[in-house]
Amino acid sequence: MDLKKLAAALIPDNDLLPPESYEEIYPERARAPKAEVTRLAPSPTGFIHLGNLYSALADERSAHTTGGIFYLRIEDTDEKRRVDGAVESVIRSLNYFGINFDEGAEIDSPLNKYGPYYQRRRAEIYRAFAKRLIERDLAYPCFCTEEELNAVREEQTAGKKTTGYYGAYAKCRNLSEERIYANLAAGKPYVIRLKSQGSADNKIIFRDEIKGEVTVTENDQDVVILKSDGIPTYHFAHAIDDHFMRTTLVIRGEEWLSSLPVHLELHKALGFRPPRYAHTSSLMKMDGGTKRKLSKRKDPELSLDYYRKAGYFPLAVVKYLMTILNSGFEEWSLKNPEADYRDFPFKVSKMGKSGALFDLDKLNDVSKTEISKLSAEQCYDFLKSWTDEFGTEADRQHFNDKTYIIDVLSLIMGIGGKKRRKDIERAEQGVRLIDYFFDDTFAPEYNYRFGKDTVNAVLKSFAEKYDPSDDNGAWFAKVKAIAPEVGFAAEMSEYKSAPEKFGGNVSDVAEILRIAVTGKPDSPDLCTIMRILGKRRVLKRLSDAEIR
Ligand code: GLU
Repeated sequence: MDLKKLAAALIPDNDLLPPESYEEIYPERARAPKAEVTRLAPSPTGFIHLGNLYSALADERSAHTTGGIFYLRIEDTDEKRRVDGAVESVIRSLNYFGINFDEGAEIDSPLNKYGPYYQRRRAEIYRAFAKRLIERDLAYPCFCTEEELNAVREEQTAGKKTTGYYGAYAKCRNLSEERIYANLAAGKPYVIRLKSQGSADNKIIFRDEIKGEVTVTENDQDVVILKSDGIPTYHFAHAIDDHFMRTTLVIRGEEWLSSLPVHLELHKALGFRPPRYAHTSSLMKMDGGTKRKLSKRKDPELSLDYYRKAGYFPLAVVKYLMTILNSGFEEWSLKNPEADYRDFPFKVSKMGKSGALFDLDKLNDVSKTEISKLSAEQCYDFLKSWTDEFGTEADRQHFNDKTYIIDVLSLIMGIGGKKRRKDIERAEQGVRLIDYFFDDTFAPEYNYRFGKDTVNAVLKSFAEKYDPSDDNGAWFAKVKAIAPEVGFAAEMSEYKSAPEKFGGNVSDVAEILRIAVTGKPDSPDLCTIMRILGKRRVLKRLSDAEIR
């Protein structure tokens, strides 16, 4: 058969470049010997999940700990799945977690020399190579219809045979020249398939960067490389793009491991040296005592939006993922509590070989620790950015008064004090904790443990004595002075020796004042709270809190 003529009939484009020329168009990257070139290659569905972040972090760390490049390629061969704005959303979501691309789709960078980074814009490259494979008798047209393929599959399943298009089942592999041209003349649609040279009797030993040595069966499937609309399949595009974008390390989900023999054969047929591969294990969770994969349908925590909405501190999510990525990270963090996680010597080879367990409780712990390390300014920025996006109108108003909020946060979080508050997991909790510092969100519950006369006497008396310029000592002396006025003990020792003689003690006076001013029986230092609230608010609250 005249294969050149056949290739021209199947792929008639006459403006294609010779495939070899792409070696010069996309030359080897100038890089240090150990520098890794990695990529994230999502399809533009608009849904970016925790698994993507996990993978992206492994990619980004592998590239950036070795002085390499991390780029973004968009695998948009499936037009049906495309969602507007999805690419920007991937970039934005990862950026929120501190992960940035050096190059790629929608990245403004002088490094963008290996594009286009959208697969749909690379059609002529795939077509040039498919044409060359046909000329070399390594690819052929297949005219089988969906129904024919289904019938073969059913026959294989019934006979307990491996399913797929191979060996005797590959009906179009040996079509006569006449048949092919007759089909073409009849306008029958066709796909281009690889003419596999492999055999299922052969085993290949392959070294995966994570899984170690893996033995796989050689590919014998005549997989589709170009679909009937001329668009490549994932397999074909992967081989060509990772070669010409000069990826050194492909990090991808373990669901791709079963296609690896196809990819190895494609690289060989195309004359490329395959990249190194690292197949990551899936993120799992414990569900009623069993481990299962995180699922889009069942687990809201798979979506990255979940973390933003819930107000997780982004660095906490990243650090927690680092602990799952490399088991040594936790220990390293404990030894280097102040260090930037980027200083950790991340190694893809140290990633877990099997299911990585994602545990929200552990993330919460990491988040608490990270939030407890923030300065007042950082804490303000973090809570404000959450509030801007997810808070109420009132929250947003409150955060306009930065000086006031910084005072409040310093007190509430114990910033700069001896006891740092360590129980805040998420922004929302922090924002709700400061509600009582604002008149419009102050929602007191006056659950006094004393009667009307006592409560009102305490509140009135304090209002008369109160001087906002008092220091803690003077403030407390005034609280103490109220005790005997209502028949309470001013000294705890006095009270303890004869409790029956008193209606209460000085701490009960403070509790009444606390309930009046903060709306609840527990709060940080009340004197400081009053100082922050200011005279007008304190006096109003004392009077509003009287029992009528
Ligand atoms: N588009 C593929 C996916 O989203 C990419 C897999 C890969 O990284 O090669 O699963």
